[in-house]
Amino acid sequence: MQTLREILDQAQQRGVAVGHFNISDLVLLKAVAAAAQELSLPVLVGASQGERDFMGVRQIAALVKSLREESGVPIFLNADHTHSLAKAEEAAKAGFDSIVFDLSALPWDENVRQTREAVTALKSISPSILIEGEIGDIGTGSEVRETMADVSKGLTTPEEAKQFIDATGIDILAPAVGNMHGMSRSMVRGEARKHLDITRIAEIKKATHVPLTLHGGSGTDDEDFRKAIAAGINIVHINTELRVAWRQSLEASLAKNPDEVVPYKILPPVIEAVKQAAISRLRLFNSVGLVAQA
Ligand SMILES: [Zn+2]
Repeated sequence: MQTLREILDQAQQRGVAVGHFNISDLVLLKAVAAAAQELSLPVLVGASQGERDFMGVRQIAALVKSLREESGVPIFLNADHTHSLAKAEEAAKAGFDSIVFDLSALPWDENVRQTREAVTALKSISPSILIEGEIGDIGTGSEVRETMADVSKGLTTPEEAKQFIDATGIDILAPAVGNMHGMSRSMVRGEARKHLDITRIAEIKKATHVPLTLHGGSGTDDEDFRKAIAAGINIVHINTELRVAWRQSLEASLAKNPDEVVPYKILPPVIEAVKQAAISRLRLFNSVGLVAQA
């Protein structure tokens, strides 16, 4: 099985991106794994602190490991948005492949100092683990809200990106390039789309040459995704879109079977709906290189 670092190098060479999908229950995990298997593509399964607290850190790791072994598809596990070293160490010990160590809410110097210490501590637990650091403002919470916050003031500059990577030793950078967590109601209805600062992505890539992650991908314009990946984005996070598919299909399944109480009869359509949502994003993220070569 290839390592996550090898998969990211390949994605960069091919001009494609690895899809990262958050999970908080077995329905979402089965759906993401089935999407990866159907397309024979690598995926990153993400679990934030809240998602890990709900499912159990070691329990998620055991489930993902068994799915990876059984399917033969490279399914990697990422500890998304981890705000303390203790929580990061817990994930590293449980066997996670990567950790998003996110102290972007702290002042610059504190973010640098604590992220550098975390890189050293986490690699001593698991030498192959990849650490992602975050600078800039990309909002919080993969939820549906009335309107989106204005994050235009907290965008990452290429100089900051290089300085942060050099000072901390992180493997992957999550920049703020117009992306943000969550979706507005109009995005859920398909009436509005997020747009990205493509030039900024290209400049950050040129200044740093490290793998770049786009957080808050849900609701982003398809063409912006293609351009962002061509400009150097290697991982794209999708959470809210899957959560919306999960909720809408669950409500539909319950409404269709008002007297049913058997979970394994109610939930298969939910797995299918989430799987299709993941498949459509994986197809898009992996079509860019082919388009560029054609
Ligand atoms: Zn995120």
